[in-house]
Amino acid sequence: MTPTEVAPAKPAARWQNARIVDIVERTPHIKSFFLALPEPFVFRPGQHVDVRLTAPDGYRAMRSYSIASAPSPGAAIEIAIDLLKTGEVSPFFHEVAAIGDEIELRGPLGGHFVWSPGDASPVLLLGGGSGLVPLMSMARANQQAATPSPMALLLSARTWSEALYRDELIGFAERNNGFAVRFALTRANPQRSHDYARRVDAEMLRDVIALLPAAPQIVFVCGSNAFANGAADAALAAGIPRDRIRTERYGG
Ligand SMILES: Cc1cc2nc3c(=O)[nH]c(=O)nc-3n(C[C@H](O)[C@H](O)[C@H](O)COP(=O)(O)OP(=O)(O)OC[C@H]3O[C@@H](n4cnc5c(N)ncnc54)[C@H](O)[C@@H]3O)c2cc1C
Repeated sequence: MTPTEVAPAKPAARWQNARIVDIVERTPHIKSFFLALPEPFVFRPGQHVDVRLTAPDGYRAMRSYSIASAPSPGAAIEIAIDLLKTGEVSPFFHEVAAIGDEIELRGPLGGHFVWSPGDASPVLLLGGGSGLVPLMSMARANQQAATPSPMALLLSARTWSEALYRDELIGFAERNNGFAVRFALTRANPQRSHDYARRVDAEMLRDVIALLPAAPQIVFVCGSNAFANGAADAALAAGIPRDRIRTERYGG
């Protein structure tokens, strides 16, 4: 394209009605919702959707939720929602939404925080609480690849039971195909000798980076504002160049 040409505008993602086909309790505060869509839904790991709720009086609330599932044609997509008791939309999902309900959804959205399997470059994933969700899509897609990329994931959670997708992640690591996982518990002691009982810091990240065959070429950080800032600073202090770090902030 020459400098004078203008890229065609991308069509805005259209709203469609998704049906909740399953609900799974993942941790004491996080539930997964499996959403079946009427139209083919092609996305990349790391992307998110917007959901929109409309009250009988017409009042609308919209929130973004990352996709937890790996791309799989025709399959329902999975989102995982953390209950914020004082919130508006997450309590609706936890306390009101039921299998068979329809909700409005648009997407996929987001083009910066995406990754697809495809080369041997090491990847580092840093998740805080439900900030694991888009990283889980990347980890799952990587596990489905013919030759998975080397990948290390550090999940910060308050306690062992609040570590989202804990057993699935440990199962990935047990395949011995280049995937490693460590847990950083902030309000409990670790259950495994190589996990941590503190917040993410540079020393911890140096340990986790050493699990990879070479320095990570890309680092994805996702969670609350506080987690994303702290983990990104720790990554910089651990020697990762700024231009390799991508962050997604959930708010809070
Ligand atoms: C791109 C993107 C992807 C997201 N993906 C997910 C996801 O996969 N799973 C998920 O659970 N959430 C995700 N979120 C957050 C989600 O969009 C909502 O903000 C969240 O569910 C709270 O909505 P609510 O209506 O329940 O609370 P609100 O009524 O919006 O907020 C209630 C109160 O909680 C505070 N708050 C909002 N978010 C947080 C937070 N993360 N931590 C602490 N306090 C907070 C607010 O400041 C407010 O004071 C994502 C956000 C973005 C921007």
